[in-house]
Amino acid sequence: MSASVTGRCHCGRVTYESTKPVNWSCFCHCEDCRRSTGAVAAAFVGFDRTAFEWTSAKPAVYPSSEGVRRLFCGDCGTPLAFDADRYGEEIHLYTGTLDHPENTPATFSVYAEEKIPWVHLGDGLKAYAKSGSGEEY
Ligand SMILES: [Zn+2]
Ligand SMILES: [Zn+2]
Repeated sequence: MSASVTGRCHCGRVTYESTKPVNWSCFCHCEDCRRSTGAVAAAFVGFDRTAFEWTSAKPAVYPSSEGVRRLFCGDCGTPLAFDADRYGEEIHLYTGTLDHPENTPATFSVYAEEKIPWVHLGDGLKAYAKSGSGEEY
């Protein structure tokens, strides 16, 4: 079986492929992700940049904060990726854009301190107050 992982936006104009499996899969409860997706929480997978490529049209870019770009389809508006200078080796794709999200279950949560109280996603998973390199929540 190929290790290739693929995904796309809603209209299919922007597609992507990674020749390596995801490095990790998580939920993010930060307000920036809420506002830029319109969803009550975001879910991400991390890919090595060296294995990842956009395979049709390139996404549009919105600079959401210093050193951070949110990538989305310029035609249908689907949020696709979080691209930050501070994660130089990795690009983070929204899990819901994968062709087979069922293969990459989230195993932890980040920015748990910003979570909406009534949102219950992956309860019981390891959770971090802020980023996954910081303190547990
Ligand atoms: Zn699209
Ligand atoms: Zn976030």
